[in-house]
Amino acid sequence: MEYEVVVGLEVHAELSTKTKIYCSCKNSFGSEVNSNCCPVCTGMPGTLPTLNEKVVEYAVRMGHALNCSINRICKQDRKNYFYPDLPKAYQISQFDIPLCEHGYLDVILDEQGNTKRIGVTRIHIEEDAGKLIHEDRFSGSLVDLNRCGVPLIEIVSEPDMRSSAEAKAYLDTIRSILQYLDISDCKMQEGSIRCDVNVSVHPKGSDKFGTRCEMKNVNSFSAAVRAIDYEANRQIELLEAGGTVQQETRRWDDMRGQSYVMRSKEDAQDYRYFPEPDLLTIVLEEEYVKQLKNSIPELPNAKIKRYMTDYALPHFDANLLAENLDKAELFEEAVHIGGCQPKNLSNWILGDISRILNEKNIQLQDTKLTAQKLTDMVKLIEKGTISNTSGKTVIEVIMFEDKSPEKVVKEKNLAQISDTSALDAIVQEVLANNPKPIEDYKKGKTNVLGFLVGQCMKASKGQGNPAILKELIERFIQEA
Ligand SMILES: [Zn+2]
Repeated sequence: MEYEVVVGLEVHAELSTKTKIYCSCKNSFGSEVNSNCCPVCTGMPGTLPTLNEKVVEYAVRMGHALNCSINRICKQDRKNYFYPDLPKAYQISQFDIPLCEHGYLDVILDEQGNTKRIGVTRIHIEEDAGKLIHEDRFSGSLVDLNRCGVPLIEIVSEPDMRSSAEAKAYLDTIRSILQYLDISDCKMQEGSIRCDVNVSVHPKGSDKFGTRCEMKNVNSFSAAVRAIDYEANRQIELLEAGGTVQQETRRWDDMRGQSYVMRSKEDAQDYRYFPEPDLLTIVLEEEYVKQLKNSIPELPNAKIKRYMTDYALPHFDANLLAENLDKAELFEEAVHIGGCQPKNLSNWILGDISRILNEKNIQLQDTKLTAQKLTDMVKLIEKGTISNTSGKTVIEVIMFEDKSPEKVVKEKNLAQISDTSALDAIVQEVLANNPKPIEDYKKGKTNVLGFLVGQCMKASKGQGNPAILKELIERFIQEA
């Protein structure tokens, strides 16, 4: 039988406010254990929380970006449960009236830029819990309460995704929106974004959903993809064997690539939700909500479509550029300076520049690259002053030194050799060393030309003008 997979996601994103949600402790990562907490965030009896307005602002902006309606009057609720990393034995969250609800996100699914609309059920604000530390050196576990009170938004989707690929596209888009709005640092490795994954399967064609299982705290998007694929297969195998899927919470073990039962699904009433008596009702002025809506910048999907139509970039390029705001800004600034092809700029940003950033594990702002330097360099290549290969040398320098591309070209003597007499000798030597490709060429395999040009470029240390080299090679072979 053929099955349809149904995926719903709950994304928890830590907000990058200066201070925590209910106290004035710094909202920072990596402090010494239990040094960044106070009586409020550690839940000492008699302390009172005060809501950080920035948390509301950030959440409402996300709500606008995901096309939600904003509840201008809402409350916060206590979600009661005992866990060692939550000393007060309840988490302040939002239960029946979230700050934002009934939204959607259009996710781009293919190269043509076709989109699918994923419903966003709600976005609510809540506080994070601490962290347990399990170390072999100690018997038992230790607790670090620094993370208690770090502000979170939880973004709950409708079960609208039908594959792990759609889920990945949704998660990637959510992450870039958080970055565009500058409300979360989105550092997956520090746990700034985690997600709970809900998966069910049902026979294709049936409109009744199957029983779902939830996997909590999946901490990377690629792990979410693996968890969804594994869980869908597990459920299908179970049904095929005549079994039934139990509603339960499972733990995804990414190392082993398997999920395990944690507990049968708890119902909402198990948490004994009730309105938080220590906090005021949140009341937002209409004007304020409107102001926040106007502050939303152009979002990634709009940017992708604009790059495809205005600059004729393929979806692949547009998507990669829009995914990273720094790269998108560099690209746009360079296009704005003008004088070279947008596609060439994109090739450099996504090619060598990204490679260098990855190798050194740094960001664009850690370099000395400017849009002006980049356009100047691409212009030199487009005019034929330097070859593409020499460009690779230039970029390595201008990214880290206060030098113009022209200066680097002069200092390193990179100007392209277009003088045929200087190139003659190189071509002849390369041809003499490569009789086999020449035979192939004569038999009609003209694609060996690229190989021969490459060999000549190498021999000229990247300074030969490839167009002229190509002409010379063709001429020599014909004359021979
Ligand atoms: Zn505190």
